[in-house]
Amino acid sequence: MNSNSLENIPYDFELGSIINFLKSKNAKSILIQLPDGLKHYFPYISSELKKRVPELKIYLSGHPTYGPCTVDEESAKELGVDIIIHFGHLEYPFYTPKYETIFIPAKSKLRIGQEPLLKLKEILEEKSCKSVAISSPAQHLNILSSIALELKSYGFDVNIAKQPILGCYYNPALSYEVDAHIVVAGGAFHAIGMWLASQKPTIRVDPYESRVEDITFTAMSILKKRLWRIHMAMDSYKWAIIDGAKGQSRTNIVKKLEEQLLEKGLEYIVVKANRIDAELLRNLGTSIDAYIITACPRIAIDDLSDFEKPVLAPGEAYYALGMKKRYVFPW
Ligand code: SF4
Repeated sequence: MNSNSLENIPYDFELGSIINFLKSKNAKSILIQLPDGLKHYFPYISSELKKRVPELKIYLSGHPTYGPCTVDEESAKELGVDIIIHFGHLEYPFYTPKYETIFIPAKSKLRIGQEPLLKLKEILEEKSCKSVAISSPAQHLNILSSIALELKSYGFDVNIAKQPILGCYYNPALSYEVDAHIVVAGGAFHAIGMWLASQKPTIRVDPYESRVEDITFTAMSILKKRLWRIHMAMDSYKWAIIDGAKGQSRTNIVKKLEEQLLEKGLEYIVVKANRIDAELLRNLGTSIDAYIITACPRIAIDDLSDFEKPVLAPGEAYYALGMKKRYVFPW
């Protein structure tokens, strides 16, 4: 059987709705943007769309796609397509693309079995957590209510986040005053962010591995490392603020940081970059003592935490510069 036949595809790409939308817009060409882990579904998506709209020109954006913060508007403009179809996320709360874009969450068809749910119950009881908030990125929002129902039947007070969370955005769950957070997602990325943002017990439920894990201990050791980096940055004289483009352009945060650095009599430079990595930081020269990455707060924590000089997310810089009295993530 073809591995990309409909039965084998664990996501709902909502192709029927997309086709209706494209027809209603009389679209002749589209640019598809998929997260890297879903790019291999492009041939399937493309051939299914072509079956229904044979004259449609379909392009794939080959640029890395980490979130809805960076819709590939440049490629769409260059190609002159009518519409961008961005899969894997809903619209970013801090950015609306100028180019016409539709967001398809690519809902996962995976479900959580009884065994992991019993393990979840056990962990919550061990930690004496009675009330919880359950959240997920866009792909798994559709299974939150069934998990919540099960937890309610065990006697827990359960709140369901109404919007998806992102690696830098946890407000949909943080708005609930609860004992613990449950994050339904593949891997620990979102759960670690939830713990850093809430500093409350956080348990991850992984639908891909049918795995339940209390990530509190792992997240606490990450926080320890972050506090050490913040401490190192406190004595820095020359700073580099690195901002991004589109949804990763955070002019208000940059302005706030600039004002504080000026007030403290410290030197700084502001850099705009689409791609931020160790090479860029090194290219800025040895005179820089500390870096603040306003573009994506996960770069400081996940990618550059071992860089030779402190690299901070915005909330961490607020703490280092005395603008906040305690650790804050992400801003
Ligand atoms: S800024 Fe970073 S964490 Fe936030 S949505 Fe974009 S890629 Fe994800």
